[in-house]
Amino acid sequence: MKITDHIKQSKNTLFSFEILPPLKGEGITTLFESIEPLMEFKPPFIDVTYHREEFVYKKRENGLLEKISTRKRPGTVGICAAIMNRYEVDAVPHIICGGFSREETENALIDLDFLGIDNVLLLRGDAIKSEGNFVPDPNGHNYATDLIEQVVKMNKGMYIDDEMQHATPSDFCIGVAGYPEKHFEAPNLKTDLKYLKHKADMGAEYIVTQMFFDNKKYFEFVQKCKEAGINIPIIPGLKPITSRKQISILPSIFHIDIPDDLAEAIEDCKDDKQAREVGIKWAIQQSKELVEFGVPCLHYYSMSKSHAVKKIAEALF
Ligand SMILES: Cc1cc2nc3c(=O)[nH]c(=O)nc-3n(C[C@H](O)[C@H](O)[C@H](O)COP(=O)(O)OP(=O)(O)OC[C@H]3O[C@@H](n4cnc5c(N)ncnc54)[C@H](O)[C@@H]3O)c2cc1C
Repeated sequence: MKITDHIKQSKNTLFSFEILPPLKGEGITTLFESIEPLMEFKPPFIDVTYHREEFVYKKRENGLLEKISTRKRPGTVGICAAIMNRYEVDAVPHIICGGFSREETENALIDLDFLGIDNVLLLRGDAIKSEGNFVPDPNGHNYATDLIEQVVKMNKGMYIDDEMQHATPSDFCIGVAGYPEKHFEAPNLKTDLKYLKHKADMGAEYIVTQMFFDNKKYFEFVQKCKEAGINIPIIPGLKPITSRKQISILPSIFHIDIPDDLAEAIEDCKDDKQAREVGIKWAIQQSKELVEFGVPCLHYYSMSKSHAVKKIAEALF
């Protein structure tokens, strides 16, 4: 079922979460073990991230370094199928521009359509870790908007080969990313919102936000989206802090701020166990306030670990 229909049909705030595919070679059992404890809270959908290739350098016998391209977390499409097969839940694969040609994207979408997957979260993706800037595949897309265009066309039965007659249309519901603290490359929030509006105008039906730790940022973002004419559901993404070092790692990776009170409380913690308790308490507080505000769904970045998200869900759902 489409995310937009889940939202329309529910009178209450929905609960959902995001998982990462396991590292190559790890198998799927641990992933199932991280999903299982959260199923009692009846998530209507689970997101599965997509991870592009990375470059690693291996030293050869002759002493020279060889640059090797490797995907450390493959399996997004397979995991979506496995989740849908095992649980009564919609799996939402993330689809990224980086590392994909248009044709590879089309083929992936065909697989997803055959599997009965109704939703896709369309993203540009980040730069390869060892490279500073995002570089698209020579035959791929530059921005999430280009991906939206491709999926919208497929939803009308228009594939890359425009000579194809009577092609079966897909019917994907399209989600996109939004950034309450602005995307780090955007010169300012106004410009970022201009492109977010563009994504909605082109066919995006819902937004999932980057994590934030100060609800005020989300409330202001929703208000500014409204003023900019963006009228699709905006699902807040929340990440409970689970270790002391995350108060410096999360801002550097995700370009977000940690509020003073939270940063100080985590700094005062003796160990990660204490930090996790503070992080969970903060996320519960944030979640309760967001429910009161009337958000359509609370979406948690579980990082494939269930403990913290389960504690929060127990307090909320
Ligand atoms: C909910 C969520 C889930 C995510 N999941 C993944 C994942 O699974 N895998 C992964 O690799 N990454 C993931 N990311 C990270 C995301 O890929 C990065 O933040 C990436 O840098 C931007 O992606 P985007 O889709 O927001 O990009 P875009 O919407 O394409 O925007 C990128 C930048 O370009 C600007 N821009 C947008 N459109 C245009 C245009 N037409 N012309 C000029 N400028 C434009 C924007 O303002 C922004 O600064 C996720 C992020 C979020 C919030």
